[in-house]
Order: sequence, then C-alpha cells, then structure tokens
Amino acid sequence: MVDLHTHSTASDGTFSPRELIYLAKKEGLKAIALTDHDTTEGLKEAYLAAKEEGIAFLSGVEISVKFDGPGHFHLLGYFLNPELNALEEMLEELKKARMKRNLLMLEKLNSLGIKITLDELTATAQGEIGRPHFAKLLVEKGYVKSFVEAFERYLKKGAPAYVPKAILEPEIAIRKILQSGGVPVLAHPITLKLDKAELAKYLEILVDMGIKGVEAYYSEHNPEFTQFLIEKAKSLNLLVTGGSDFHGVNKPHIRLGRGFGNLEVPYECYTNLKSALEKVYAVTI
Ligand code: AMP
Ligand code: ZN
Ligand code: FE
Ligand code: FE
Repeated sequence: MVDLHTHSTASDGTFSPRELIYLAKKEGLKAIALTDHDTTEGLKEAYLAAKEEGIAFLSGVEISVKFDGPGHFHLLGYFLNPELNALEEMLEELKKARMKRNLLMLEKLNSLGIKITLDELTATAQGEIGRPHFAKLLVEKGYVKSFVEAFERYLKKGAPAYVPKAILEPEIAIRKILQSGGVPVLAHPITLKLDKAELAKYLEILVDMGIKGVEAYYSEHNPEFTQFLIEKAKSLNLLVTGGSDFHGVNKPHIRLGRGFGNLEVPYECYTNLKSALEKVYAVTI
C-alpha cells in the first residue's frame, strides 16, 4: 500500500512531517509522498524520517491553479530531491499571495462581526496558514459548532468570507514543475466538477500543456470514476497516481493510506512515478 497525497503541519495537516512518517510506518505503508500546499518546508524532515524508518519517500507539493470551470484545480508536483531550490521563486510568490488572501478573509470575517485577529490566526498554524486554520479558530472562539459549519457558513467557495487563492495559470505551474525536474499531476479530478465528456476534453488540453499524470485513486472518487480515469490515462499515455489527501484531525474521516476506508493505491503507482521521475531527472541534470 502507498499514499502519494498527504499534508503535514508545514501546511494545513496536523501531524509534523516526522509524525506523518511514523504513522505511515504504523499503518504498514510501503511508500509515501508529502504534498503540502505551496511549500516544501516539510520535505527534508519527512525524507530523513522515511530513510530511518525504511519507507520509500517522494517529495511533492500541491498548488492551486486558475480554473474557469465550476470547481477547483489542484496541481501536484512530484520530485526526487527534497531540497527543491528550483521551485523557491514560484513558491515565494504563492506564499505572498496566500498571506494577502488570508488578510482579506480576515477583513471579511471582521466585517461580519467576527472578532478574530491575525495574531490568533498565526498562533493556530505552524507553517502556511490556510482555511482550515480559520475554521479551527472559528470553532475555538465559539462562532460555529464545527469545522464543517465554518466552511459551510463562511469559508467555502461562494461563502461570505471566501477569497480565491489561485494566482497561476495552469500552463505556467506545469511548466515550472517540469523545468524543476518534476512530474506534474492533476490532483483529485473530481473537484473540477466537470462531467465526464468535459473532463475527457480538458485532460487532452492538459496533456498539451505538459501534464504527466492523473490522480485516479482518491478518497472521494468512487470505483467507477477511478476506472474512468485509469482508462483515460491509458489512452493519453499518462501516469496513474493516488492518495488519501490525509490532513490528520483537519480531515478526521480520512485515514492515511485508506481514505474513507476502502482506498487502495497500488504499489505500481509509486514505482511508475519513481521511474518517470528518474527519467526526467536524468534529462534535467
Ligand atoms: P486553502 O488552501 O486555504 O484554500 O484550504 C484548502 C483546504 O481546506 C483543503 O485542503 C481542505 O483541507 C480544506 N477544505 C476545503 N474545503 C473544505 C470543506 N468544504 N470542508 C472542510 N474542509 C475543507
Ligand atoms: Zn489542505
Ligand atoms: Fe487539493
Ligand atoms: Fe491536498
């Protein structure tokens, strides 16, 4: 079993990179990738811990990119190298944009009569601040009863305190990952909220932009949708990847490696991705 989509305290997960690797070991995973939002800060710690624990590790990052459709588009980038200096410029830009967005969301919440401060928000996060940190604070301060309610009432797309995050066009993000010796993969296609015919067309556009894989196995994909994606991947010569999108207690129903309980990401997803990375790496250096 492998899990190629996870988050740590470097973004909005609740396990530190080292704790995440310990958990992976406990759960019997053979390989794991850390894919925090907009940051590579957790990779080195996870890489070293994985080495000690004897688990195969891949470096990753998850980036939100612009999308005109109904849902949202997340792009995964996978790498062999846990240092990833080549991405720093882009990630710095993304972090700055994220901070601006956080301030705007804070203003919106304040104008709705919710008294939370930047200091309080900063104190809830160890790494990059995102909507889950807002949700946690709203629960703690009694403005909502649950994390889910925080998203429903204030934070989800279209809700009163929501501010869009994506600043990059997909082709730019894809190119940047390729130029850095990485493999760009479309994350959880379900969240694009396209029907199958639209998705099939969009995948072809993404292939032209340089995307190399699609996350077919995912907690929120049903077996039929997963199969659809596997077939599309085959016909477009794309890698198939998969992961749980584990966030610790920020997504309490999602278990590492198992998603809602029946996720099974085949080991080949890891070996195929690793082979692709080794090829890209050899070409880049
Ligand atoms: P951000 O990167 O700040 O936009 O936050 C994205 C993260 O918020 C996702 O990775 C999820 O962990 C979480 N999230 C997004 N939508 C919801 C929702 N409706 N309910 C609970 N958590 C959500
Ligand atoms: Zn997240
Ligand atoms: Fe995502
Ligand atoms: Fe994610």
